[in-house]
Amino acid sequence: MDLRLGNMHDVRAFSVAVTAVVLLGNLALQSLVMPAGVVEDVRVSGAVIALALAGPISFFMGLRLYDIHCLTLDLEHAAQHDPLTGAVTRARVYDRAAEIGHVPMTLILADIDRFKEFNDRHGHLAGDAALRQVAQTFLRNCRQEDVVARFGGEEFLILLPGTTPEDGVRVAERLCTRLRDRQVEIDGARLAVTASFGVAGVEEPGGIDAAIARADAALYEAKGAGRDRVCAA
Ligand code: GH3
Ligand code: MG
Ligand code: MG
Repeated sequence: MDLRLGNMHDVRAFSVAVTAVVLLGNLALQSLVMPAGVVEDVRVSGAVIALALAGPISFFMGLRLYDIHCLTLDLEHAAQHDPLTGAVTRARVYDRAAEIGHVPMTLILADIDRFKEFNDRHGHLAGDAALRQVAQTFLRNCRQEDVVARFGGEEFLILLPGTTPEDGVRVAERLCTRLRDRQVEIDGARLAVTASFGVAGVEEPGGIDAAIARADAALYEAKGAGRDRVCAA
């Protein structure tokens, strides 16, 4: 049974429903097991006792079920999202692709340029802040239905449902430009951060891994050609 209490209205409704069931069950049982004369005598007191017990107990149970629901949502969110950047996890990309089903899809692999140097020069915490801002730039410049995932350390994977590789190249060009223009802000200073992008179409259902391999090869090409650019598979 999937009993989810998602807000205080659900908790109150649950409490009222349980109390009503206990009250009616109590009356039915009294009629079944007690002699008719006695039933009349205890009907009111029995109902009061049932109400006094079932009301608070079911309300308390409802609150606990509501807590469990909130914790479940938090856990689901934590399992599906990278805590540093808020992008979804790599595993979630496969789930989302399966949920979206068989539509044309393009995949972009992005890797921040010379990020080791950035960390060495500005420190690891500044690197973390830069990673968060890069993820924000990607998230802000993608559609609601796109999936922006942290693929690894300073690499992101973006899945674009319903797009051709040509559309994917246009999106990657936009992300590349936005990142270059926006820079990142660390302690009030604006610092340059760029990324290289590889784009590949997902050519068959479940073909994510093959597309990642081709996007990775294109990304390698973009790095070799001088970085801060987009290459298509
Ligand atoms: P390239 O342009 O060839 O990609 O050079 P790169 O320096 O970006 O690549 P390399 O693989 O040599 O280094 C990746 C760096 O990313 C090294 C690692 O410390 C940094 N990095 C990975 N994950 C994190 C993270 O969570 N936070 C920070 N601050 N740095 C990270
Ligand atoms: Mg890398
Ligand atoms: Mg890199």
